[in-house]
Amino acid sequence: MGTNQLQTEATTVKRLPARASYERDEAYAVLDEGLIAHVGIAVDGQPFVIPMVYGRDGDRLLLHGSVASRLLRTLDTGTPVCVTVTILDGLVLARSQFHHSMNYRSVVVLGTATRLGDPAAAAAALECIVDHIVPGRPAEARPGNDAELRQTTVLELPIEAASVKRRTGGPIDDDADLDLGIWAGVVPVHLSIGEPVPDPDLGDVALPASLDPYRRP
Ligand SMILES: Cc1cc2nc3c(=O)[nH]c(=O)nc-3n(C[C@H](O)[C@H](O)[C@H](O)COP(=O)(O)OP(=O)(O)OC[C@H]3O[C@@H](n4cnc5c(N)ncnc54)[C@H](O)[C@@H]3O)c2cc1C
Repeated sequence: MGTNQLQTEATTVKRLPARASYERDEAYAVLDEGLIAHVGIAVDGQPFVIPMVYGRDGDRLLLHGSVASRLLRTLDTGTPVCVTVTILDGLVLARSQFHHSMNYRSVVVLGTATRLGDPAAAAAALECIVDHIVPGRPAEARPGNDAELRQTTVLELPIEAASVKRRTGGPIDDDADLDLGIWAGVVPVHLSIGEPVPDPDLGDVALPASLDPYRRP
């Protein structure tokens, strides 16, 4: 593991720095719980921020996509990238419109990605990404074959420059507004996983072990 501190000049939180952290453990907790990465690049001065799935293996983020993808092809040139993962925890309703907010945990990772050219390394990275979607799933699903791997670009992004920011707690209203008689508080938000829906062509195949956490009690 690299240094425990992920702070660089570019990842230093300027606004409300008390909400920031640069600890790997905190960053990794958010990255491991999050599901979607928003991957930002600039192409000819035009920023693009594209949603992707991802995985984390130790101190690196793993991304994959079609070899034809503009995003993947651009990343493969070593262009600077910004990856953001956000978990929404609550809607914060204040007495004033001005102080409305959200409770969240988010991570921003900056760096440059490198293609995993070694087929074994790429295949292992794809397993890591699938495992991030549903833990334990790689052991149940067919691994990628040579043709599939040839159609796929797999990239690693070292997690060396990053920041965590989070907001917790209720609204921070002005004292003068506290007696307005307007409801204020937090509406918690949770990601809800539904009951698995079998594919129509499945036949008599039982729900796999990886979906045990999603079974209706
Ligand atoms: C939850 C989620 C996970 C995904 N995971 C992956 C992944 O792991 N790997 C992967 O390759 N792709 C993934 N995708 C699809 C990804 O967002 C892109 O559509 C895809 O990578 C193509 O990228 P591109 O740069 O080649 O797109 P292009 O087709 O070249 O983009 C051209 C334009 O299309 C529009 N566009 C592209 N993608 C989107 C989008 N998702 N939503 C709205 N407009 C869009 C934008 O305006 C963009 O400028 C995921 C999408 C979602 C929503």
